[in-house]
Amino acid sequence: MSSERIHILFFPFMAQGHMIPMLDMAKLFSTRGARSTILTTPINSKILEKPIEAFKTLNPDLQIGIKILNFPCVELGLPEGCENVDFINSYQNPDSDSGDLFLKFLFSTKSMKQQLESFIETTKPSCIVADMFFPWTTESAEKFNVPRLVFHGTAFFALCCSYNMRTHKPHKKVATTSTPFVIPGLPGEIVITTEQANVADEETPMGKIMKEIRESESNSFGVLVNSFYELEPAYADFYRSFVAKRAWHIGPLSLCNRELAEKAGRGKKSNIDEQECLEWLESKPPGSVVYVSFGSRASFTNEQLLEIAVGLECSGQNFIWVVGKNENQGESEDWLPEGYEERTKGKGLIIRGWAPQVLILDHKAVGAFVTHCGWNSAIEGIAAGLPMVTWPMGAEQFYNEKLLTKVLRTGVNVGATELVKKGKLISREEVEKAVKEVIVGEEAEERRIRAKKLGEVAKAAVEEGGSSYNDLNKFLEELNGRK
Ligand code: UDP
Repeated sequence: MSSERIHILFFPFMAQGHMIPMLDMAKLFSTRGARSTILTTPINSKILEKPIEAFKTLNPDLQIGIKILNFPCVELGLPEGCENVDFINSYQNPDSDSGDLFLKFLFSTKSMKQQLESFIETTKPSCIVADMFFPWTTESAEKFNVPRLVFHGTAFFALCCSYNMRTHKPHKKVATTSTPFVIPGLPGEIVITTEQANVADEETPMGKIMKEIRESESNSFGVLVNSFYELEPAYADFYRSFVAKRAWHIGPLSLCNRELAEKAGRGKKSNIDEQECLEWLESKPPGSVVYVSFGSRASFTNEQLLEIAVGLECSGQNFIWVVGKNENQGESEDWLPEGYEERTKGKGLIIRGWAPQVLILDHKAVGAFVTHCGWNSAIEGIAAGLPMVTWPMGAEQFYNEKLLTKVLRTGVNVGATELVKKGKLISREEVEKAVKEVIVGEEAEERRIRAKKLGEVAKAAVEEGGSSYNDLNKFLEELNGRK
């Protein structure tokens, strides 16, 4: 099917967990003949430049570009350089709370409306795929009769959970925020607590933004989902029947990165040389390494880091542990037990900062993934055919965790039952137990078989004739039909 005439604008929210899948999506559409342009701010354009260059080197005939939108932080009342959620996470100012800064940042993004509209007016794109956090883009696109597609960055399952929570409000009927209840109206008996569901009160600024997001979604052209039908058929059907009739599943998006350079170049520059990382993995037996990472934003206390360190060592398994920059710890590494790295040498590899995650997950030496259940990580783990230890912390991660542990039955919960901000410590014993449980024993074997099968189905979904491939075709046909 030809889609040569199609030009798509992609407008990701400025956070790694949103920019990475949106760039994958832009690449995917380019490989299907569309021209892709990513809209972003100056600092974020620098992050995207390198992976785009790598893509162009591999695919000289395909079209993908960046359009820079100004985002004058200081004029907007934000700190200098505050163009990305990463900045907010690492920003330490005793006078302001990071939650307040996040809200201010979110509101400030609307300052790009005028620039977006003039770009739409001059380029007349076929459509704009804008992040859920930019509800105002629906109106901008509408002005020029351009369809706006919403990208949430999460699964059908989590979107259905949120819908049923809003519709039935079960959390209003329980005694405490930690009382478990079944989410009404949803296929499957999904048990959750109010706290885990992390529902924003409608009266709070965040609650109001969420309402605006929902309204803009119902006025938009549809929704693109980073998932595949076979992963969650009941929820994909439910979503299309009750939540958003026009939704296309086109994932797993990370699978569009086929070459080593692409897999290694996602997001920030890695803090480990990729060859060194591959050599380390090559030296390990298949399925023997546990990869431990908590996404682009997690930051643990020293106390928690110590428990993870000891738990991993006591599990006796090989591991790669990504310790992101921890704002609570500064530069010192007091949390690391005395002589730890010498003792675990050969068995454990600590990456400080950013890891080439997909490159690692796809290596045959990796046998399990300890994850915070951010949707990108979760679907990357699924696509790699891996069982997981689930350690949800906030956002919609508890929903994703239920999908992994209860529906797909490829995950084992480490014992995380509360939002991480509440400060419950996961003990070294819990870490050790979950890591052993996911690698060793009969149940582990069954879980591994299920996960492997899902990985195969995920890969087939994006190949020609697969469910995601076909849904993308349908979407492109609809766009072409509008011309
Ligand atoms: N990621 C990575 N290296 C790291 C940490 C994260 O490549 O060291 C990537 C990961 O592959 C995923 C994204 O960053 O694509 C994180 O998104 P996710 O939804 O998992 O979590 P978030 O960071 O949004 O909480």
